[in-house]
Amino acid sequence: MVSAVAFDLDGMLYVGEQALPGAVEVVGWCRRRGLRVLYLTNSTVRTRQQIADKLAAMGFAAAIEDVYCCSNAAARFARESGYWQVYVIGARALRAEMTAQGVPLTEQIAAADALVVGHDPEWHLELFGGYTLAHDAAFVACNRDMTYPAADGRRLPGCGVVVERVERAVGRRANVVVGKPATYMLELIERDLGFAAADVLVVGDMEESDIAMARRAGAPAALVAGESAVEVEGAMVIESLAKLEELL
Ligand SMILES: [Mg+2]
Repeated sequence: MVSAVAFDLDGMLYVGEQALPGAVEVVGWCRRRGLRVLYLTNSTVRTRQQIADKLAAMGFAAAIEDVYCCSNAAARFARESGYWQVYVIGARALRAEMTAQGVPLTEQIAAADALVVGHDPEWHLELFGGYTLAHDAAFVACNRDMTYPAADGRRLPGCGVVVERVERAVGRRANVVVGKPATYMLELIERDLGFAAADVLVVGDMEESDIAMARRAGAPAALVAGESAVEVEGAMVIESLAKLEELL
């Protein structure tokens, strides 16, 4: 038995601005069972508060402390690492989280002791070159997701595409990844709320991020795989979110 359920968001509870059918009900059912519901997303384009607000507008019970997202986690990571001049490539939300954590930012990449890269939906021209990153500066990728699901069923380029572009520009690989499949956000949950990984059921739609994180951390996991469900190492596989009730 687990004490908490950590739901992935994109493609799991919602797509675009639309809650997926039955998702609000399943989350409500978990809460009525006394399970702590957490929202665990690699999103870097919204702040923790903005994600809580988005969920609440769709009918999910969500407060800021229920949300673990890459924008906030990257900022906490930067603060804990003691970076003193961070150059950020990404959305306004990522900068806002950095500032809220008291992380000093710089507009001069050459002066930075850390480069933090999140998704940049506007594809700023700076992505195409002209970087000089100090050889001893940290290079932190929020995540390496190559795509995310759009409302019309297409998949759009994700944070990983931006990270790859910046890696090419600076001539080296990111040396830290904050988001799934890294386990840092599960560590934050344990530190903040006291739920060890083994107590948290991770529910997601992506084996390479959601399930891989759970596997690394030793958390139980459920992969929601649709009708093409096949067996996956380290996770229970269910056809749809509605089947979650049978697992718990
Ligand atoms: Mg997903």
